Amino acid sequence: MTMDVKRITFGPVPSRRLGQSIGINNIPPKICTYSCIYCQLGKTYTLQITRTPFYTPQEIVAAVKQKIQDAKEKKEAINYLTFVADGEPTLDVNLGEEIELLKTLGIKIAVITNSSLIWKKDVRDDLRKADWVSFKIDTVDQEIWHRINRPHGSLKLRDILDGMSEFSHSFKGDLVTETMLIQDVTDGAEGLEKVASFIVGLSPKKSNISIPIRPPAVKGVKSSDINKINRAFQIFKEQGIEVEYLIDYEGNAFAFTGNIEEDLLGIMSVHPMREDGVRELLSKANASWSIIEKLLVQKKVIQTEYNGEKFYMRKLLNKPRTIKEGEF
Ligand code: SF4
Repeated sequence: MTMDVKRITFGPVPSRRLGQSIGINNIPPKICTYSCIYCQLGKTYTLQITRTPFYTPQEIVAAVKQKIQDAKEKKEAINYLTFVADGEPTLDVNLGEEIELLKTLGIKIAVITNSSLIWKKDVRDDLRKADWVSFKIDTVDQEIWHRINRPHGSLKLRDILDGMSEFSHSFKGDLVTETMLIQDVTDGAEGLEKVASFIVGLSPKKSNISIPIRPPAVKGVKSSDINKINRAFQIFKEQGIEVEYLIDYEGNAFAFTGNIEEDLLGIMSVHPMREDGVRELLSKANASWSIIEKLLVQKKVIQTEYNGEKFYMRKLLNKPRTIKEGEF
C-alpha cells in the first residue's frame, strides 16, 4: 500500500450519528469547494468545483477491505462506511462507482457533504446510491453564505438550495442536515427561522445543530453561547423538525445506564430538557431535584431560558480541543 492509500481509511470510530463507523477520506487535504471560517482542517489549499479522480475506486475498496479485516480481527462492530473527507467528498468523480463497489461488502454507506455540488445531476445520482446522506445548511442567506462558507466564485446558493430540494424528493435513504452556529454570523433568530423553513421542505430524518468544537480556520471565530444554541434548537423544534445538537461537553455521556444522573446527562448532551421533563424523569426514578442542584453546582449542567421556560443543557467545553486523528 502506498502512503496515500493508508490515508484513505480510519477508524472504526464511534460516531454520535452513525454508531461504529469506518471513515473514508477520498479527498487529499485540503481540496474543497468551500473555505469555511470554522473549518477544523485549516485553510483550503485548492478551491475547486470540477470533479476529478483522486484515487482509483479499486484503491478505495482495497483500503476499506483492509480496515474491515483489521476490525474483524479485533472483534469490533462496523455499522457504517462513511465518506468524511479532508475536503468535499463529492469532488471525487468516482464517488458513485466507489459506493456501488463498497455496497457489495454488505455495510451501509454514509456521505457527509457540504451540498455545494448538489445542483449537478451526476452528484445527485451518485449520492442517491448511499444509505445515509448529511447536507450542510449553515444559512440560506447569500451574504452570510459568503461570509461563513467562503464558496468557490462560480457557485450559486440558489442552485444549491434547489438541488437539495430536488434530491430530497427522490432519495430513498436517510437524509439529515447539519447547521453550524457561529456567534454573530449564523445564530440570529430571523436567519435560523428561514433555515428551519427550508429544512422542513426537505423532510429530513433528523437535523443537527453544531458548533465548532475544534480550533477554527479563522482566528476569532466563536461558537454561539448556550442560550443561542438553545434558541436555535427551539426554533427548529417549533417548525416540527426532529433536532439534536452536536456540541462538546465535559465527560462522557453516551450511556443510558439506569443511573438517573448519567441518564439525565446523556439526554442533555443531545438536546435541552425543559424543567417539567426533568421533573418527570426524576419522579419516575424516585429521585429528587437535589440531583439537578448538584449538577448545577458541579457545572456539569447549565440552566437557560427560552420563551419564559427553563431549560437544562450539558455544559460546553471551555476551550476548543485539538482534533484527534480520525474523529468525526
Ligand atoms: S466544507 Fe467542510 S472541509 Fe470544506 S471548508 Fe467547509 S468545513 Fe472545511
